[in-house]
Amino acid sequence: MLAKISVTLALSGIASSTLINLQTNSANGKSVLSSTVFDYIVIGGGTAGLTVARRLSDDTSKKVLVLEAGRSGINDPLVTIPQKSFSFIGTDIDWLYNTAPQTNAANQTVNLSSGKILGGGSAVNGLVWVRGAKEEYNAIEDLGNSGWNWNRFYAAMKKAEAVKTPSAVQTNQFGYTVKASSLGSSGPVDVSFPNYLPLQHQKFITASTQLGHKFNADPYSGDNRGIFYSLASQTPAAVRETSEFAYLDPVVSRSNLIVLYNGALVTKLNTTATPGTVPAFPQVAVATGVQVRFPDNTVQIAKPKPSTGEVILSSGTVRTPQLLELSGIGDRNVLSPLGINTLVHLPGVGANYEDHTITILTYKLKLPYLSFDALKYDPVLLAVQESLYPQGKGWLTFANSVLNMAPADKILTSAEIKTAKQILQNKPPTIQQDLYTSIKDRVFKVPQIEYLLFNSFSGGTVKEANRSYVSMAVTHLHPLSRGSIHINTTSIDDHPVINPNVLESEWDTWFLSKATAYGRKFFQTPAFQEIFEEEVWPTTALANNDAQWQKFVKDNINVGYHSVGTASLLPLSKGGVVDTNLKVYG
Ligand SMILES: Cc1cc2nc3c(=O)[nH]c(=O)nc-3n(C[C@H](O)[C@H](O)[C@H](O)COP(=O)(O)OP(=O)(O)OC[C@H]3O[C@@H](n4cnc5c(N)ncnc54)[C@H](O)[C@@H]3O)c2cc1C
Repeated sequence: MLAKISVTLALSGIASSTLINLQTNSANGKSVLSSTVFDYIVIGGGTAGLTVARRLSDDTSKKVLVLEAGRSGINDPLVTIPQKSFSFIGTDIDWLYNTAPQTNAANQTVNLSSGKILGGGSAVNGLVWVRGAKEEYNAIEDLGNSGWNWNRFYAAMKKAEAVKTPSAVQTNQFGYTVKASSLGSSGPVDVSFPNYLPLQHQKFITASTQLGHKFNADPYSGDNRGIFYSLASQTPAAVRETSEFAYLDPVVSRSNLIVLYNGALVTKLNTTATPGTVPAFPQVAVATGVQVRFPDNTVQIAKPKPSTGEVILSSGTVRTPQLLELSGIGDRNVLSPLGINTLVHLPGVGANYEDHTITILTYKLKLPYLSFDALKYDPVLLAVQESLYPQGKGWLTFANSVLNMAPADKILTSAEIKTAKQILQNKPPTIQQDLYTSIKDRVFKVPQIEYLLFNSFSGGTVKEANRSYVSMAVTHLHPLSRGSIHINTTSIDDHPVINPNVLESEWDTWFLSKATAYGRKFFQTPAFQEIFEEEVWPTTALANNDAQWQKFVKDNINVGYHSVGTASLLPLSKGGVVDTNLKVYG
């Protein structure tokens, strides 16, 4: 165990003198680190990190330090304007990750961009604010994580939220509806519906009900089945909400919270080894400091308070295992070949990696219907929308607000359900037995596929000039394949090997193929036939039978940017990395 100074894992300012931009005020940052010891050092000021830092600093007797490599998102339209979500890809606020070649998916490498910025993923993501099904949260407890259940998650989710229920005007115009009592009303995170809903998204509600999917008027209280209006993490004035804006900005004058950002790159944890008390850990690691590389390439040490201070790793699914491994905490089979002394042999670090898998269908809109594609070819339209945005109106306020969470038995025929049950009997080699059983047993109990519309051409090869397209993303919510994220060099500057191992399992390929083929059915409904002209991706020439759909899925797989699992909350015997107090084993 990491004794009193522990490395813990977060799930998920300060007077201007303590919100320190290292690009412009490196000397101040150095002076703070050399003169202060901290009760909590939070590594990574992303979605979870800033949330935790804000909550911990509510106790003004505690000194909290946040270390963030990226810059601020304040006043950056790439961050603040909902319609620009995903536009960060390839910019300075992207860590620029790609996966390793995916052996079960035509050896492709897949983009896995990730936010390098205060706010992390919350500053760059798709703004979709949604919950899973009650059973899924309770399954976390059933896996051996006492207390981590729906009731507790639900209370925490509500505590975070300040929901803005739709106005009568919004409901009349777009149909928005949500049950306010299923959401929080006084938390720091604004969640609301945008003042614009594209016609195609309105039609998606109708198309879904025409296919027999249930309309869900209350998707936030533990039953997320069906087609529904989803809230967005944005203010009623249509500014994206990030953990920087929601959690950090309002407390920027707190003197017990210090944030070093824009160049505070954590490179390693300093640890000391002490004898352990359980056979699994003959020695345990105690974090004594955090190495931080400043923009001038000097390495400074952030120090936790002796005996009581804690180091909280919240650097995301890719960088959390990287930092643990570089610090000698991980699987000795990974560390030894790199010459790293294994302080704590913890094979779960970097293992159990999972991401959603996604396929895309693309359809051309009939004239005169338009999507966001028109903003690129119609400068007048763009100017109009840009002038509306400051009033919280128009196209730029919109990222996404309609989701269809489909149960497996809604998209499979009865014959296919029989086949599904047979395929599900085969446990893929990489998934831990209890996780496999848990997921398999819920396949016909909770939604398995998310259908969502991207309001633009988002996949395909043939795009006509001056025409608008809409893409449907088909997301497998509970794949069985598991991969890993491990270092393969000792340098923090080398990305770890990111291998989601997509489509390893027969089930993942078979089911996503069926779900993708089913996606076409939405476009055959009267509601969609009214506005869509033709399918341009994949087209029936490319995908029209089981074998073709499976090939299409393998050749064109995307990952969901929803990476999880590399520092799992699980009992040690099941491959866990942290215990129910989120403390790293050993
Ligand atoms: C493109 C995209 C779209 C998404 N869409 C949605 C969506 O619509 N809805 C939804 O609910 N979820 C979505 N997600 C997922 C969601 O945003 C993430 O699951 C969530 O933000 C993860 O939070 P985190 O705190 O674990 O990591 P992050 O938010 O990524 O935070 C990690 C932080 O650590 C910093 N960091 C990393 N390494 C170091 C280091 N060595 N030194 C210093 N700092 C470091 C990073 O810069 C980052 O700020 C999306 C994600 C992406 C990338």
